[in-house]
Amino acid sequence: MSGNERKILKPVGGVIPYSALEWKGGGCMVVFFRGCNFRCPWCHNPALLSFTVDQDEQLGLAHDLDLIWGELARVNEWVDGVVLSGGEPTLWGDLCAKVALKIREEFPGLKVLLDTNGSRPDVLKVLLRDQLVDGIRMDVKADPANPGEFSWVCGGIDGELVRNVRNSIDLLASWDWEGEVVFRTTVLPGYNYAYLRRILSYLEKRGVSPTQFYLNPFRFTGVRISRSWLDDCHRRWGSSAVATEAQVREWEWALQKGESAFSKASHPEEYSKRVG
Ligand code: SF4
Repeated sequence: MSGNERKILKPVGGVIPYSALEWKGGGCMVVFFRGCNFRCPWCHNPALLSFTVDQDEQLGLAHDLDLIWGELARVNEWVDGVVLSGGEPTLWGDLCAKVALKIREEFPGLKVLLDTNGSRPDVLKVLLRDQLVDGIRMDVKADPANPGEFSWVCGGIDGELVRNVRNSIDLLASWDWEGEVVFRTTVLPGYNYAYLRRILSYLEKRGVSPTQFYLNPFRFTGVRISRSWLDDCHRRWGSSAVATEAQVREWEWALQKGESAFSKASHPEEYSKRVG
């Protein structure tokens, strides 16, 4: 038997039964779907990038999904919601929608939240149309106005995926619903305030409010981070400096509130250095 024949699809890569950190709305369970169509060098979950595992490692699809239902039966009284994360949950299409629907039907008090890289606007549309989610957090990893740069940041994805990301932004910005939509950017080495402002400008032109834009600090967790990758960041954005968590929170606050709120009066030199 070849190596490929021993590999089988496995949607669920793991479950955190309770997290107080994942969602500002309360405690939640987190389901990590396997598989991703991006290859971000700093990916925080590289073990989840493959859709398959060795046949010997698991017992079948039904058993795999039972991990969700078993844990949810145990913790549903303590959590306020379930976050579908990954990997990229929307790549499982119907299965992702079915999991959301089953949570709706069997645990009606729980919110359903989705983390996505935005590469499947068709699946997002189904989840929104059928009211299967209460909130969506979409990553915007670079400036979508520059497809080549966006592709590079995501590990060399093809142009169609970048177009899909742009379509997802348009969809989420224009969808009329009660749910929460948030866009997030990880502040990669070299990203500065001016570059983050460009990303927000792109979003604002599509109708996104600055208060929907959040930043994540960069962490050296990716297995594909290398000296040459950092040097490339340096070449592209003029600096390989990594913003501290305090800087990231300050920039996020300034982007959400407007630049006039950004310590301009009390720190004019620092302001002009960062805003450029
Ligand atoms: S989109 Fe997310 S899961 Fe996929 S490679 Fe990038 S960081 Fe990893």
